[in-house]
Amino acid sequence: MILDLFKLDGKVAVVTGANTGLGQGMCVALAQAGAKVCGVARRSCDDTKKAVEENGGEFFEIIADLGSTKQIDYIISEAKNKFGKIDILVNNAGIILREDAVNVTEENWDKVIDINEKVVFFLAQAAAKEFIAQGTGGKIVNICSMLSYQGGIRVPAYTASKSAILGLTRALANEWAGKGINVNGIAPGYMATNNTSQLRDDEKRSGEILERIPAGRWGTPDDMMGAVIYLCSDAAAYVNGFTLAVDGGWLAR
Ligand code: NAP
Repeated sequence: MILDLFKLDGKVAVVTGANTGLGQGMCVALAQAGAKVCGVARRSCDDTKKAVEENGGEFFEIIADLGSTKQIDYIISEAKNKFGKIDILVNNAGIILREDAVNVTEENWDKVIDINEKVVFFLAQAAAKEFIAQGTGGKIVNICSMLSYQGGIRVPAYTASKSAILGLTRALANEWAGKGINVNGIAPGYMATNNTSQLRDDEKRSGEILERIPAGRWGTPDDMMGAVIYLCSDAAAYVNGFTLAVDGGWLAR
């Protein structure tokens, strides 16, 4: 039956940036759908663990810094040691640094590109190697942005990184679809999380943004739930290299 295809019972998911915001919402969604969840972040994921367990799920915290590739092997081995395998990777962790383009330092450029783009690739590569070795196939979901499509203002490195991973999502899908690995993306619109707190605190920018969202509200972590479950499930078995906007209609304007 069609609804059974959305179930993730017995699957193991690794979600980066799991302690707050969109990552937290997606951990809860994956658990509700039946997956065991490994959440990665630098700081404690206690709130997420609590929320997952309240939904009857199982959550395992992996404290790691995704500012470089150094801890990728550690993340994969921790997840495997705990649950025996990996079926799903949600590449969600990311940062945004707001600065006029003329003032962006190389250090800040690298910081954003390393976590939002370089580590996204190498974590996807590490997960794909596991999927291939397991012979199970798997699912990778990269969290993109409206700035995968648009330029944005005062966030050049962020726009560069998010535009890059939309292309990367297509490139990896082409290589790995034949191996049973679905690589897709989700492009959230303007969501109320820490990532946008500066923007929401700016009354003028916040008003301009809200006025442009057809749905008439900022998105929430709950708005990500349906999209991530779909792309991580067998219901999306023939969906490859596509990035789904969850944006209240922002891109439709
Ligand atoms: P958030 O509330 O700022 O959360 C970011 C997450 O990334 C946190 O869990 C954080 O964990 C983790 N993280 C950041 N740097 C890390 C590092 N070096 N190592 C390990 N983890 C790290 O942001 P969010 O809004 O939920 O965003 C999640 C994703 O969605 C990001 O990729 C963001 O670019 C994207 N996105 C957000 C929006 C939006 O409107 N909010 C829109 C489009 C796309 P720690 O606290 O432990 O560092």
